[in-house]
Amino acid sequence: MKSKTYSIPSVGDILVCKHFNTKRLTIKLKAGENPKVVIPALMPFDMGFRFAVEKQEWIKDHAAKLAQTKPAPVLLNGTFFQTRFHQVQSAFHPHKNVVSRKNGNTVTLFFPEGESLESDKNQKLIRSFILELLRKEAKTYLPGRTRQLAVQFGFQCKNITVKNLKTRWGSCSAINNINLNLHLMRLPEHLSDFIILHELCHTRHKNHGAQFHELLNKLCGDEKRYNKELKKYHIQF
Ligand SMILES: [Zn+2]
Repeated sequence: MKSKTYSIPSVGDILVCKHFNTKRLTIKLKAGENPKVVIPALMPFDMGFRFAVEKQEWIKDHAAKLAQTKPAPVLLNGTFFQTRFHQVQSAFHPHKNVVSRKNGNTVTLFFPEGESLESDKNQKLIRSFILELLRKEAKTYLPGRTRQLAVQFGFQCKNITVKNLKTRWGSCSAINNINLNLHLMRLPEHLSDFIILHELCHTRHKNHGAQFHELLNKLCGDEKRYNKELKKYHIQF
């Protein structure tokens, strides 16, 4: 799949993606993601962009509605949230504040007795707690892992930064600075390695041309299989 990002003032960034198995132009909206226009593989990207411009009122209305729908709770009473290195769980305590306790790989968030974990306030609190946990894990793990893979496969990259990116798992700049999404810590190791290798391949090939795919396939074995598995995960949670 190939894609290109455009910007429409009233809508923001949109992604135009080429798909082999489609004959029509379709707009796809997902909470927390930029609008996507899917076009047939042989159609120029600009046509997808013009289609989105034509439909911008529709996109705006539906994106606004989607933004109002509540995301699914991340953690409830008796459930767990798994990051690469921690398992987050909840419990209650007879105090008025929310505290966290770490015991080995388990982090427990204690809520005041009688409170509902499903409330907007508590879900917001849980999300921001998990986000900071992911950020900490990502900052300790991802730069080192990237350097390790770079050495192993003979790549050279400059700075490695970790951010809370909304639409991409990672990126590589023209001067080979690599930017990685902290949400990689929600993926299994082989998929986060795959993203890192993808960005490392960009230090040699800036576009997604044949040489890029040849190199990535050589390093990871089967790019398509990884991309398919990756689709099961959403960047935002
Ligand atoms: Zn890429």
